[in-house]
Amino acid sequence: MLNVKELEKYSRQTIFDKIGSQGQIKLKYKKVAIVGLGALGTTTSQLLARAGVGHIKMIDSDLVEESNLQRQTLFTEKDIGRSKSLAAKKKLELINSTIKIEAINEHLEKNNLSYLKGTDLVLDCTDNLDTRLLINDFCKKEKILWIYSACVKTSGYVMPIFPEGPCLRCFLKEAKLDSACTIGVINTIPISISALQVTLAIKILTEKKIKPELFYYNIWTPELKKLKINHSCDLCHKTQA
Ligand SMILES: [Zn+2]
Repeated sequence: MLNVKELEKYSRQTIFDKIGSQGQIKLKYKKVAIVGLGALGTTTSQLLARAGVGHIKMIDSDLVEESNLQRQTLFTEKDIGRSKSLAAKKKLELINSTIKIEAINEHLEKNNLSYLKGTDLVLDCTDNLDTRLLINDFCKKEKILWIYSACVKTSGYVMPIFPEGPCLRCFLKEAKLDSACTIGVINTIPISISALQVTLAIKILTEKKIKPELFYYNIWTPELKKLKINHSCDLCHKTQA
């Protein structure tokens, strides 16, 4: 059920027929994990908190740096040198005090993947392939849905990944992006990629049917494409058999 405060807070979502109060109640009882609090993670976590997702767990061990402020929407100059996860938790609690926000000040690694257990959805907001592959293989094994997201320069990708695939290993060629540290990033593309990721997340958390398609978006040209990915890695072939 939604209380009086929640009915008012989420009124623009509950009058939207695709969500409604039933969808809002579903969001209230869902738990998501966000891996990485850079440009994607700060926007994604903020949108999910504002949308009323009941439990948000954020995982990142980095400290806020001056060069982050150009695109990492939760941080200000006062946060420089502070832990990203703890600074983000404080900001999100100011935005929405009625949801549970957990900050894990660690880097996601092989030995702490259990942080992802028990979540309804994992949101990949990392900036490196090694962590993404850890998420990919763990979520497949634990049968957890996750959403891949990545961006550099002026373009990026988003894809919902189901335990049965196709998975990240099936489109590794497309997923091998350079790092924003080496070739840069315009600050509007992570916002757009986050918007696509969170829209999919809201659809998944309110139990709508979605397709396993890879979205590509270039905000400079601009161009939006949907790419079909086949089950082509060994892991997915085994799941299908
Ligand atoms: Zn695969």
